This record gives sequence, structure tokens and C-alpha cells, in this order.
Amino acid sequence: MRCVLLLLASAACAGCRPEVATPDPPASPPPAVPAPADDATRPAPPRAPVRDCEAHARAVRERVAGRGFHVLVEEPFVVAGDGGKAQVERFATHTVHWAVQLLQRDFFARQPERVLEIWLFDGAGSYRKHARELFGDTPTTPYGYYSAQHGALIMNIATGGGTLVHEIVHPFVAADFPDCPAWLDEGLGSLFEQCREVDGHIAGRTNWRLDGLQQAIAEQRTVALSRLVATTSDEFYGPGSGLHYAMARYLLYWLQQQGKLRQFYRDFRDGAARDPTGARTLCAALGVQDLDAFQPGWENWVQTLRRE
Ligand SMILES: [Zn+2]
Repeated sequence: MRCVLLLLASAACAGCRPEVATPDPPASPPPAVPAPADDATRPAPPRAPVRDCEAHARAVRERVAGRGFHVLVEEPFVVAGDGGKAQVERFATHTVHWAVQLLQRDFFARQPERVLEIWLFDGAGSYRKHARELFGDTPTTPYGYYSAQHGALIMNIATGGGTLVHEIVHPFVAADFPDCPAWLDEGLGSLFEQCREVDGHIAGRTNWRLDGLQQAIAEQRTVALSRLVATTSDEFYGPGSGLHYAMARYLLYWLQQQGKLRQFYRDFRDGAARDPTGARTLCAALGVQDLDAFQPGWENWVQTLRRE
């Protein structure tokens, strides 16, 4: 078992819709977990779309000329940051490249078609200033967000790399599984906002979202899993969104720990025309007839988890 990289997240889901999040203090390295086992069928290497990252990078350099940004290409992204060349190169290599390689290996058969930008702003002041000046945005999260409109991940990188991995998931899901429901999109994003590499696979770790979920379980405030997976985007991101994120994350965490997550994702994606919510595919992965019958056992298991 090999743990190469830990990503400690002060992670909020952001790209998506705003939600309140509590920063996660850095944790000490956790004990080893069983290696995710479901590796029966690996997807074919992603087909690389035609895109011109170098030309896009030149345009970005012109756009921010004289403002102290370093700009580089890390396919399919152009990465720009104002925290110095070394910082930009470090995140490009140790977070962006690392996450993209592992996510593609296990989940995504298609890459985003267009060049996407990752903006690494070095602190809250730069983040808010440049979100406004470059994109006309007023961020609703202190961490960062994905703007599909601008094709850009806009990050306050001083809060850590976890949110960056979360947001990287979204454009890949959009390319690979266009009809992916919010619960799976956000479940995957939030699963990997705190992650590490285990035997060559990306693996989510327990994080700050566990606290609220355990409290909701204790107070019997969870929603039925059958209801969660049937939520529309408006419902998922609406009232109770923090609980929706947490339930989706730890449902996928359960699948991950059982070695079933990667195959579940592929089965769901490939069969979504017949099972758009994923409920039937999920039942098959869980080995149950009824999600709501599965739920009490899952909730009991969640209550045994501890923050890493
Ligand atoms: Zn998200």
C-alpha cells in the first residue's frame, strides 16, 4: 500500500451553488485503509479532443500582462496564478496533473472538449478582486468555484488544494456523463475534496462533512436515500443542500470502501438512459432490493466513522 500524496481540504463545494462550509483544519496522516478493489474493467484511455492550450495560454498571458501572474499549460487546463512561479508549478503538478491522471484512470473516458482555465489566486483579497475584474463575479464562497459560463475554476488557493480537486471533477463529469444528476456530480466532487492516492487510485477520506451528517443521523433528520437520488438539481441545491452533499459523499464513500465505486460510476453512466436517477444501478451495486431498507445499516456504519 502506498500513500503518495495527501490533499488536505478546507473544502466547500463551490462551483456548483453556494453553501456554507466550515474549513477543515489539516489532519495528521490517517491509518491505512483497505485498497479499493474494484478494478475489473478499466476504461479505455480518454480520447483527447482537439484543443489548443498553448494558444489559450498566450491569450491568458496577454490578458493579465503586468499583473504578476505565472501561466502554464497542464492539459486540458491553462493554469494561472499570482502566488509565484513555484506555487503555480507545484499546484499544476501535485494537484491538477495528479488528480486528472487518477480520475481519468478510474472514472472518466472523456475529457472536456474546450480549454479550461484554472485561476489560483493567492489569498482572499486577490481572489475577490480578480473574480470581479476578470469575470464580473462576486464569489459566494471563500474557497473557490467552477464557472461553466467562463470555462474557469476560480480558486482562493490559499485555502488549500482540496476545493481545487472538487472543482476539477465537475468539468470532467460534464464531459463524461452529461446527464449526471447533481447527487452523483456533487457526491464525487465532495468525496475527492479530501483525498489521497492508494495503490495508484484516488481515494476520498473522511472530512468535515461527516460531523453534520452524524448529527443529522442522531437527530433522525436524514432524507430517504430513495428521495436523495431522485432530487432534481433545484431540490439538491435547495434547502438542506449541506445534508444532501454529506449524504451523497458518504454514500459514495461506502461504495469506495467496499471497492464498488468505480464500477458503479461506469454502470450508472452507461445505463443512465434506462436508470436516470441511478436508483436501480445503486441497488445492484449495494446488493439490495430497496435503498430505504439499506439506509439504517448505512447510517449505523456512518456513525462508526471518525474524522481522519
Ligand atoms: Zn461541487
